[in-house]
Amino acid sequence: MKALIIGGGIGGLATALVLHEKGIEVEVFERSSEIRELGVGINTLPHAIKELADLGLLDALDKVAIRTHELIYQNRFGQEIWREPRGLDAGYDVPQFSIHRGHLQGVLYDAVRERIGDERVHKGFECVGASQTGANASAHFIDRSAGDAKEDRTGDLIIACDGIHSAIRKQFYPDEAQPAWNGIMLWRGATEWAPFLTGRSMVIAGGMSAKLVLYPISNDTEDPGKVLMNWAVAAKLGDGSKPPPRREDWNRPGDLNELLPFVEDVFHIDVLDPLELIRATEVFLEYPMCDRDPVPRWSFDRITLLGDAAHPMYPVGSNGASQAILDARCLADLLSQSDDVVAALAAYDAERRPKTAEIVHNNRKGGPERVIDVVEERAPDGFDKLHDIASEEELKSIVMGYSQLAQFTQEDVNR
Ligand SMILES: Cc1cc2nc3c(=O)[nH]c(=O)nc-3n(C[C@H](O)[C@H](O)[C@H](O)COP(=O)(O)OP(=O)(O)OC[C@H]3O[C@@H](n4cnc5c(N)ncnc54)[C@H](O)[C@@H]3O)c2cc1C
Repeated sequence: MKALIIGGGIGGLATALVLHEKGIEVEVFERSSEIRELGVGINTLPHAIKELADLGLLDALDKVAIRTHELIYQNRFGQEIWREPRGLDAGYDVPQFSIHRGHLQGVLYDAVRERIGDERVHKGFECVGASQTGANASAHFIDRSAGDAKEDRTGDLIIACDGIHSAIRKQFYPDEAQPAWNGIMLWRGATEWAPFLTGRSMVIAGGMSAKLVLYPISNDTEDPGKVLMNWAVAAKLGDGSKPPPRREDWNRPGDLNELLPFVEDVFHIDVLDPLELIRATEVFLEYPMCDRDPVPRWSFDRITLLGDAAHPMYPVGSNGASQAILDARCLADLLSQSDDVVAALAAYDAERRPKTAEIVHNNRKGGPERVIDVVEERAPDGFDKLHDIASEEELKSIVMGYSQLAQFTQEDVNR
């Protein structure tokens, strides 16, 4: 069985590795001329790390990432709303990692090169469509590395891992609009900084109008006393009724003057001075918070969607990359259990699509970060006693309810 994987992001490379492990032949086609380590920090949750650990990648991840110890939610005055241990410290069998997205992609790519061979990763191949007969599926490309020559490749199935602007999704849903913007702009950056608290803590502070996210993503720094500190600010620029001011692009630099009003005199937290941190970051990126409505079908006989191509979601709750890795595992298991590709892709669709659709919807309401929204709404100027504002049960049901929905409770993972 041969699978053509479109896109060499985290979803595509993870899929290549798990399919290869099951003895399925794979070829990866990536539009960019090289696999570059782009982006800033992401968190990968234990359910996804378990899959990467099963692939033997734990040591490689440890070299480039930080094992997240705890997650703390605060209001914008630094008052604590929720604190919980994470990963191994929460009793999981495997860690949660705070990691540079590009480094995670790099770990996966190194493993693909070593186990499958770099000649199986075709760079500069932009997929422009796919077709199928009863017996096989063909992907159609423009080879950007060969003077834009047209190329066709045929296999038993095609897995579209080509991200939020997936060309193959577009083919099946030609009338789908551009990704929907909720009016929130995200600015993200990372720079060397002194560690705070345990040196492995993650803080999410603020509320509905502006949120600040802080966590270290690497100890590999020029100054050994510092970590690579990842930060993100999310602020409401509009009500979501208009398209974003600029098309979403993971590599668009942000504008300090636009960002500063959402930070200056807004966050008064103890762990570090966000203004200083942001000012010290040479280049940071901006990204309008976009997703797409869940679609009624991912699998069309021998062609299916995976990762952001299937379920682009708001980046709250640390689930984008993690869910792509879970898709990959589910698909590989089903394909290896059957010779019937069409039936396996249909079963993958039935298993993964409803679960991820729920996460897309929940992320629109704030995901687990709704704990800080709720408190800010009721106590915008801070509080004396947290539980006069929101009960322990209410806060717990928001945070724990999300981990159940996204299937990363300790019970789910350790099982
Ligand atoms: C450059 C970049 C930077 C990112 N930075 C961050 C970040 O800082 N923080 C964060 O939380 N998330 C980031 N993400 C998103 C995050 O990686 C994804 O949400 C998640 O990992 C799911 O991965 P995916 O493989 O499904 O999609 P993606 O990571 O979007 O990967 C899709 C891949 O497909 C390729 N591709 C697209 N169209 C075609 C085509 N027509 N033919 C062939 N190849 C194609 C793209 O070049 C890309 O390599 C970034 C994504 C990208 C592409």
